[in-house]
Amino acid sequence: AEEVGGGDKEVVKDYFNKSGFERWKKIYGETDDVNTVQRDIRLGHSKTVENVMKMLTDEGPLGGVTVCDAGCGTGCLAIPLANEGALVTATDISAAMVAEAEKQARGQLDLGKEGVVLPKFEVGDLESLEGKYDTVVCLDVLIHYPQSKADGMIAHLASLAENRLLLSFAPKTLYYDILKRIGEFFPGPSKATRAYLHSEADVERALNKVGWRIRKRGLTTTQFYFSRLVEAVPI
Ligand code: SAM
Repeated sequence: AEEVGGGDKEVVKDYFNKSGFERWKKIYGETDDVNTVQRDIRLGHSKTVENVMKMLTDEGPLGGVTVCDAGCGTGCLAIPLANEGALVTATDISAAMVAEAEKQARGQLDLGKEGVVLPKFEVGDLESLEGKYDTVVCLDVLIHYPQSKADGMIAHLASLAENRLLLSFAPKTLYYDILKRIGEFFPGPSKATRAYLHSEADVERALNKVGWRIRKRGLTTTQFYFSRLVEAVPI
């Protein structure tokens, strides 16, 4: 059964405020105290961020463009966006993540540079996000959503976006589906949260249903990191 009731979100929030926070802060950081797998995930994730920045800037400069980074983590994307002059709202369900993202942003951004504005950081789940943004980005968050909840989550993010929505997710192909099932036969202590894979067709259907179409696609794979990136625009 995919559905586990309303408990999933609380588990995810708790995880990303505690052990998950420590783990992912390390992976998304630059320190040397990471193992081989973590280093590989760090590399893969940084490629996803690069691909997103390229997709966005290919369409024109980001100066003054409003961007919502939903599930911002430690700010890996919010910071380069702000550095390009985007007006960023960055939110996350984990207060620890948001505090870390703000700390990183204050440390890394040249706030004296013209057009560079500190992102607006807020704690909250993405379902409670309101307002309108030119661009909405949500990276590597769908992994916490079963398909039954993913449709609603995608529809909500699309409703906040005026021009584009970028989503990345772990692709559900036969091979990874099998790996994931094997993982479920051997649930180790590190398996603190459930991971949900999504098929590109399911994500595309969810977007189409609310009047959006996929314009660009990208894929990042390293040994231990797989992420499909899609950019959607209104039909
Ligand atoms: N997007 C960031 C990045 O790519 O650097 C972080 C990705 S991390 C794997 C997943 C993040 O999603 C965590 O920071 C977690 O707290 C957040 N998250 C999970 N479920 C969420 C929800 N329902 N609303 C907002 N954030 C959520």
